[in-house]
Amino acid sequence: MTHRVLIAAELKNLLRPSQLADLDITWLAADQPTPKGDWVAIVPLLSRWVGGTELKHLPNLRIVANVAVGYNNIDLVAAEMRNVLVTNTPGVLTEATADLTWALILATARHLIEGVDLVRRGQWTGWHPEQLLGLELRGRTLGLLGAGRIGQAVGRRALPFGLRILYAARTAKPDFERETGATRVDATRLLAETDIVSLHVPSTPETKGIINGETLARMKPGAILINTSRGDLVREEALAMALELGHLGAAGLDVYTDEPTIHPRLLAAPRTVLLPHIGSATEETRHKMAAIAVANVQAVLSGKPPLTPVYS
Ligand code: NAP
Repeated sequence: MTHRVLIAAELKNLLRPSQLADLDITWLAADQPTPKGDWVAIVPLLSRWVGGTELKHLPNLRIVANVAVGYNNIDLVAAEMRNVLVTNTPGVLTEATADLTWALILATARHLIEGVDLVRRGQWTGWHPEQLLGLELRGRTLGLLGAGRIGQAVGRRALPFGLRILYAARTAKPDFERETGATRVDATRLLAETDIVSLHVPSTPETKGIINGETLARMKPGAILINTSRGDLVREEALAMALELGHLGAAGLDVYTDEPTIHPRLLAAPRTVLLPHIGSATEETRHKMAAIAVANVQAVLSGKPPLTPVYS
């Protein structure tokens, strides 16, 4: 028996025919609205909103298999009310995203983009003792706002750099503390005491806008903000102002509130490294993300429990 499923067209090259057995697939292009019809599963990218209206238009839907660990593009309440399962792709993108977080930490701390620009523009006039002086990491403090899979992986990578680690999370992480010497503090103390603040909480009603004019003012002068989690954690105009005024040392961002649009003031702000949401963009990880999403669909359609449910 074949099942009618909707799958994001961008995943075509990442999936093998054997993974798609028994599926009657409608490939859904990014610019195509979610259709109405009798599909039983949808595999969307994080750029597709799946809310009450979309779910109403898909009355036979049994599963939304998101191709991301974050699932803020799905109305969970609406899905649960309609008995539609929701799954994500946890774990497989942890290392790739932690690597990219470190790329941003090093790029911002050592003015990598300014250096590249200087060389490319032909304006480098030679070694100068005070040129592009950055932040020495040894002895400094890294603050992890959120210390789940990715936050902890970022923390573990900090050890060889000699950084002290503070973290804020809803629950204590004794193994992580033992392994890294990290100390759990509340978010207020974390912002006030760290040289590099890295965001790893998901986007939820409680965390949206957690970095705003008020919390930015509480950060150490010259501190660096890194965000590889979700754009709407940060009020982009307030961040741009903190950079313009020189209060913040730098910002390294992979995610934005209204992707792919970036607030014009943030785009023009000084000392930023702005990436196009490539946290999980490695060959291996993207294959694994697509594979898990489709494996969740296959499990549910064959009457088994989903592999990585968002709620039970
Ligand atoms: P995770 O394992 O669920 O970790 C989330 C962490 O945030 C946990 O420590 C959790 O605390 C904490 N947290 C949640 N709500 C909080 C709150 N209100 N206040 C304080 N702490 C809170 O998730 P993950 O796998 O590390 O992924 C984190 C996020 O990264 C995802 O949600 C996703 O949005 C983003 N992401 C982005 C990319 C990219 O391409 N840039 C790639 C992958 C993931 P507890 O541990 O106490 O529950």
